[in-house]
Amino acid sequence: MRVDLKSNAPKDGQPILTSPSLDLSILCCPYSDHGDLKQISEGKIVCELCGRQFRSVAGRPILFDESRSVFSSEEVEELTDVIQFPQNIGWRYQLRKALPAAAPRVTGLDLLAKNVGLLPDHPVVLVVGCGSTRECYAKMFPSAQLFLTDVTLQGDATAVCDGECLPFRDEGLDCVVVDQVLEHVVNPAGVVAEISRCLKPNGIVYSGVPFHAPVHGFPFDFQRYTPLGHRLLFRRFQELEFTITQGPVSAISLTLIGFFASISRNIWWRRLTSFTVRLLLKPLLWIDRRRTTPRGLMIPAASAFLGKKQQEGISTKEIILDWTAREHQHGRDRFLSHGSASDRNLGAGVITSDGIESG
Ligand SMILES: [Zn+2]
Repeated sequence: MRVDLKSNAPKDGQPILTSPSLDLSILCCPYSDHGDLKQISEGKIVCELCGRQFRSVAGRPILFDESRSVFSSEEVEELTDVIQFPQNIGWRYQLRKALPAAAPRVTGLDLLAKNVGLLPDHPVVLVVGCGSTRECYAKMFPSAQLFLTDVTLQGDATAVCDGECLPFRDEGLDCVVVDQVLEHVVNPAGVVAEISRCLKPNGIVYSGVPFHAPVHGFPFDFQRYTPLGHRLLFRRFQELEFTITQGPVSAISLTLIGFFASISRNIWWRRLTSFTVRLLLKPLLWIDRRRTTPRGLMIPAASAFLGKKQQEGISTKEIILDWTAREHQHGRDRFLSHGSASDRNLGAGVITSDGIESG
């Protein structure tokens, strides 16, 4: 059964985005029975296996396993009309766009966009934690059946669910995007396991996480990942690409903005200090743009992983060895491109506990 969603009215000068239809045949019950879902009235959906009922607000179903999730459908429904995400319209948006970004994501979603060719012609794509990014993903996946999900109806989500109990059938998805989300979930390994369950064999995952960023999204901010920690989280996936999306300058910028915001919560003080930091550090952002490949970077602000689902997991030891080899290869490539001296000692170094190469 398809439930047509109301599409947003086109805004002046912007392309009309085709609104995805929500296909209940791909969705399923978020409880472990994963039963078929059936629309029984405008605001109600029922699981045909366990009989549990779920709400639906304006065609957007709320599908939590409330025995496991920290979210509840009542709360989501109550907060539907409260604006949470910055709106991509109006003078404030134009002003934000005109200001230099604190930490521009250099190659994050570009990494995904340039690999869209790995997907079939009409892929089924799930975005976990979409916020208000509908336009971005609609452009990136123009021919996809796109499921935008979040734990709230305040953004662009076409269905509400929790990453730890995804309401999708086993092996039904071609691609899952989980960008700047895993730091906000209680059990990231559980979310990755769910992503793996829902992906088809050889399905593609894109993940972006911060490493050096102030606490944000209070109170839902639970962890940070080093680049290798990020890689290890996806040990059941073959690495297609790994990128540092925000480098050391972004890390300093975010830290300074967070520092000033810690001194006073006054909105004008925060705006002024944030603007000043952005402006002062903007000339240095080229450093971040050139430092997207070193895996041993000491202060990355964020990283992105693009992986392919594999039947067999890869052992932690293999991943660490592969990681080290790639970092040495990167060092070797840089060395060779900069000079003509012998490189025979490169690759034989030992990474010490403080990350400095010796030997
Ligand atoms: Zn059920």
